[in-house]
Amino acid sequence: MIFQYDYPLFRPPAEANNIILQVTLGCSHNQCSFCSMYKDKQYKVKKLSQIFEEIDVLANMYPDTIKIFLADGDALGIETKQLLKILSYLKASFKKLRRVSTYATAQNIINKSSEELTQLSKSKLNLIYFGIETGDNTLLLKINKGVNKEQLIESLNKASNSNIKISATIILGLGGIQNSTNHIINTADIINNTSINYLSTLQLGLEENESKKFYKKFEVFTHLTDLEILEEQKQLLKLLNPGSKIIFRSNHASNALHLSGNIPKDLNRLIYEIEFCLKEGESSLVPTQFRGF
Ligand code: SF4
Repeated sequence: MIFQYDYPLFRPPAEANNIILQVTLGCSHNQCSFCSMYKDKQYKVKKLSQIFEEIDVLANMYPDTIKIFLADGDALGIETKQLLKILSYLKASFKKLRRVSTYATAQNIINKSSEELTQLSKSKLNLIYFGIETGDNTLLLKINKGVNKEQLIESLNKASNSNIKISATIILGLGGIQNSTNHIINTADIINNTSINYLSTLQLGLEENESKKFYKKFEVFTHLTDLEILEEQKQLLKLLNPGSKIIFRSNHASNALHLSGNIPKDLNRLIYEIEFCLKEGESSLVPTQFRGF
């Protein structure tokens, strides 16, 4: 069998050294106005027989694999019975397998029972990458996320109560200057009322041909400058008071300032680093030519 990925193919930066197995194509939601990842892909669950053949090829090439990422956009959208069959085949094919991960949406989690999620976690699907983006209901509507703040909290808690770890992302600058305060207050509220394990902050970046659709939902949208984004990030960190430890990273290609630490332990240091750069100005930031979205 000739093994071929269906491009474009995305994976979180943390999965760079792990095997990617495409079990679906595209994203079942595919409507977030800031996202162009799967715009040209029709959502589809791949046939089990094809997935098994691809697992055979990968197991032959990389028998000692310990971590596997299931692509594309939201493999958790697959019916649980089928996902369990895939996980069981993976376990049989990779003897050292420790972790299976995937992107997931709030809708995927809400559509599964807690028992199903627990079964998946016991079968090694124990990490999800989850885009919170914002906790603000007005903004969530404008970006077509398809869920509200309460559903984001419900789904995140349902996943963590089922022993699935969560790596969450939020998008700084998503509301522009006009919605910045509500964006940050409500996003902090989500983080403080859930048990996220990893948190990353990205900066808003829009592909040119997608931006019209994004702006259409806003009467006025003024982008934040890099320094205003840092101010937003500082306000967010100041509001964080989570019930459990979070590993925090701001080291995406889009970030003007790279930060890392543990929350709450390193909060003061992280805030100090931001304040230092705010005083130093643009020259202390990653130059734009070295950044991407
Ligand atoms: S759910 Fe994720 S992949 Fe799908 S459109 Fe929204 S941001 Fe993009």
